[in-house]
Amino acid sequence: MNNSAGNDYLKAMGVQQWIARDAVATDDSLDWQQLEEKVSGCSLCGLQESRTQTVFGAGNRDADWMVVGEAPGAEEDRQGEPFVGPAGQLLTAMLNAVGLQRDDVYICNILKCRPPENRNPAREEIGHCHAWLQRQIELVAPRLILAVGGVAANSLLEMNEKVGRLRGKVHSFGEQQIPLVVTYHPAYLLRSPLEKRKVWEDLLFARAACANGHSG
Ligand code: URA
Repeated sequence: MNNSAGNDYLKAMGVQQWIARDAVATDDSLDWQQLEEKVSGCSLCGLQESRTQTVFGAGNRDADWMVVGEAPGAEEDRQGEPFVGPAGQLLTAMLNAVGLQRDDVYICNILKCRPPENRNPAREEIGHCHAWLQRQIELVAPRLILAVGGVAANSLLEMNEKVGRLRGKVHSFGEQQIPLVVTYHPAYLLRSPLEKRKVWEDLLFARAACANGHSG
């Protein structure tokens, strides 16, 4: 079976596959300004056709915590900032609830461009965008990554698991072995508000992992 036939077969079964990270080279000489310029001109995956603008990332570039979401939505695409729509406002409130201000953390997404109609990111899009995220992670060098939602968690960890099975554990990201904690996406909480307690617990867990200097 050739690779694309294999991919079709897995797709038909609903199995999400992740592109190997090293399929896309990371330029580890880029500084913040160069990286932001590269991202704003990016046309690697085709989403430049429908985006209003790229959504690079926001917050404290020296943060201990890096929050990684899925992809910009309509409001983020309009404003050019991650997590500023309804889900973003809830994320900010949840961070506040554990004593963090939005500006204390660095926030970005797996994808820098909004997928049309907020559809799920395609694996090719994730693969193309990974180099930008990888360089952001290198530049911030966070003590902890908080992956919000299944797309962020599975693409960072190169897994294919439900969020419920990834929570409550300190994972490790990449060669740098950065501690990584998984929680639900705030858009899910907007639909299932009773799950907010779990996210609160996850944030406390992440805070403890960060304070303990967990090595991954
Ligand atoms: N959802 C995300 O995953 N990221 C955003 O920036 C906004 C909504």
